[in-house]
Amino acid sequence: MVNLKDKVAVVTGASRGIGRAIALRLAETGARVVVTATTIEGAQKTAETIQQNGGETLPVQVNVADAESVANLFKTVLEQYGRVDILVNNAGITRDNLLVRMSYEEWQAVLDVNLTGVFNCIKAVTRTMMKQRAGKIINISSVVGEIGNAGQANYSAAKAGIIGLTKSVAKELASRNIQVNCVAPGYIQTDMTEQIPESAREQLLNAIPAGRMGTPEEVAALVVFLASSDSDYITGQVMNVDGGMVM
Ligand code: NAP
Repeated sequence: MVNLKDKVAVVTGASRGIGRAIALRLAETGARVVVTATTIEGAQKTAETIQQNGGETLPVQVNVADAESVANLFKTVLEQYGRVDILVNNAGITRDNLLVRMSYEEWQAVLDVNLTGVFNCIKAVTRTMMKQRAGKIINISSVVGEIGNAGQANYSAAKAGIIGLTKSVAKELASRNIQVNCVAPGYIQTDMTEQIPESAREQLLNAIPAGRMGTPEEVAALVVFLASSDSDYITGQVMNVDGGMVM
């Protein structure tokens, strides 16, 4: 069992879905988990579960697309714990539309949260991790960042951008003992995929060799490995959790 006792982990978008599963799993391994969401109520919901399970946590409201909000988040974390060992960039949104119908707002909103949000958080934490000479950054991309998806030009571009960002930052920070990796989930059961119409759902399932959707916990298991010292010689990688969808 991975032991992350007293490590300080920040998880963005941890009110529900994959982020919530990651936060709960990190707390189970002993980490002190900073749970964030766009509302304090959302963050508190996950934090309460962690506390009920005997874990240590700090709920914080943040909008990852806003650099000032992100700076405040890390100021709060450093005041409370004095360090950041693990950053999981998980917050994400969709605004699906075919390219010909996609509005500038739909394009920009997804880029702002899903890509600039990751940049904002990495930038805010890097100096702290460099001083510590240790750190783990795990960015949640998607299989559609690798293979594209009709109706998701904005989302696919942002998720592909995360892959390039991950590799560049991994190269910059490797000598400081900071590992930066990407997790690319396939089709995972959350609120986000709840919106997919029944007809498209069946087509998607046919494209998955495992024949089923994944669970948030299956993504969280890989994130915890990448957050642990067992992965110290792994950096700049994209790892899929997708039931064989992309291979
Ligand atoms: P979800 O259930 O819709 O949850 C999204 C989370 O992101 C929520 O906690 C939400 O907070 C937070 N969030 C949204 N906008 C934010 C912002 N501006 N600032 C801070 N937090 C924000 O999504 P999910 O399915 O768990 O997905 C999590 C991540 O995995 C996303 O990056 C997604 O793109 C990626 N992913 C998901 C799948 C899938 O099949 N589900 C597949 C591949 C990749 P609130 O509750 O406050 O809104």
